Amino acid sequence: MRQSPQRRISLVAKDARHILHPWADLTSLGRQNSLVISEADGIRVTDSQGKTYLDGIGGMWCITVGYRHRDLIAAMRAQAETMVYFTPFGNVTSEPASQLASLLSELSPGDLNRVHFTTCGSTAVESAVRIAHYYFSCRGQRQKRHVLAQTNAYHGSTYLAASLSGKAVDRTHFHYEGGWVHHLESPAFDPDNSTVSAAERLDHLIAGMERAIARIGPEQIACFVAEPILASGGVLIPPPGYHQAALDLCRQHDILYISDEVVSAFGRLGHFFASETRFGIVPDLLVTAKGITSGYQPLGAVLLSDRIADALVEAADPAKPVLSNGFTYSGHPVACATAIANIAVMQREKICEHVRDVGPYFLERLRGLRNWSIVAAVRGDHLMACVECHVPGETGPTPRNQALARAVDAYCARSGLLVRPYENLCILSPALIIVKEEIDQIVAILDDALARAERDLWAGAF
Ligand code: PMP
Repeated sequence: MRQSPQRRISLVAKDARHILHPWADLTSLGRQNSLVISEADGIRVTDSQGKTYLDGIGGMWCITVGYRHRDLIAAMRAQAETMVYFTPFGNVTSEPASQLASLLSELSPGDLNRVHFTTCGSTAVESAVRIAHYYFSCRGQRQKRHVLAQTNAYHGSTYLAASLSGKAVDRTHFHYEGGWVHHLESPAFDPDNSTVSAAERLDHLIAGMERAIARIGPEQIACFVAEPILASGGVLIPPPGYHQAALDLCRQHDILYISDEVVSAFGRLGHFFASETRFGIVPDLLVTAKGITSGYQPLGAVLLSDRIADALVEAADPAKPVLSNGFTYSGHPVACATAIANIAVMQREKICEHVRDVGPYFLERLRGLRNWSIVAAVRGDHLMACVECHVPGETGPTPRNQALARAVDAYCARSGLLVRPYENLCILSPALIIVKEEIDQIVAILDDALARAERDLWAGAF
């Protein structure tokens, strides 16, 4: 709904005065001129001035079946009217939580048949690590508490999840858990820009992991936390065979493998879960969130293999048998009902099949943008992609490269496309219902934005 100019100004002023946004740029705090998104439909959003944009980022990697889907809205309303909330603690359940857990175990890889619900991705990652610690502690291996993580990965914003996240820039000025979290080298492999083969890169990464395990001592390591593809780190794709080889190492040393599928599950890579179907592994614990409800409701989940769940029960300490982990809103009934409706829509509308059809087209069209000299790389997998910008000759997120990417983002927004500006990257993760004509529109807008930014660069703007 278009808002009157006075109302918009008042909203923006209240925002500037009172909101400290997530990931806020503090240099503009109090002066931020926030975009007010007031409507959303399909793959488009509309701002308070009536301007409509293609949503190139799917909300935040999470909108999958599109905005304003009737079935999801009906499910939310029906559940809110029937039973909006009751505690999930102990032996109390709700119909949606119980139904959803059973559905997830059918859809998920291998024997991941037990679900511990949480509220979002960060709380799911935290819970998975706590479960890994609890598991080893119950088995009398309390010293097995160290965690292996990946440089450049992102696992969330709560303290432990942020400690696991591997971007130095996000860690400055905080106090991180340094003693027992270890970051392995980023597993990125870009065949277009690599001087070594995929096999050499894989050997190098696995040798590095082996060395880290030997250095820390396998008897001290509880788990390895990995994103199948490092999403927020810049859509970084490991060489083929990486996850399988890492899992083999974990199995060899009794280290639990936690796959963070917060972004990659629920169709973004063309399957409900990417681990098994896309990467050939069944992890011990799998974490998901975002697309589980298509972003309509906050929800996270940790899926546990029967092996781990049974071992937890077997090893439970009779004196202290309670797994003290969970949140007031773990598996909120309205969120679980939404997730059930979302899965039904995905199956009925054959969303995964659709992604497998349009995904390669999306990447092929984006790769055409590499002709611009300011494009350093185009990376992606199905509907998860990024365009990396650079001033030719300059690599990484330097201030100039970031300014250039911001210019590309601004030109895109002006032409009606929202991409996610992140350092020197334009990240793209549209809703999964996107069709080829809309992909063409996105690429045409990006192409024009890159042309303009390149012209600005040569004119000395950066
Ligand atoms: N894991 C991954 C891979 C993510 O991308 C994110 C969020 N972008 C999270 C965890 C944290 O999820 P949330 O923001 O829902 O806490």
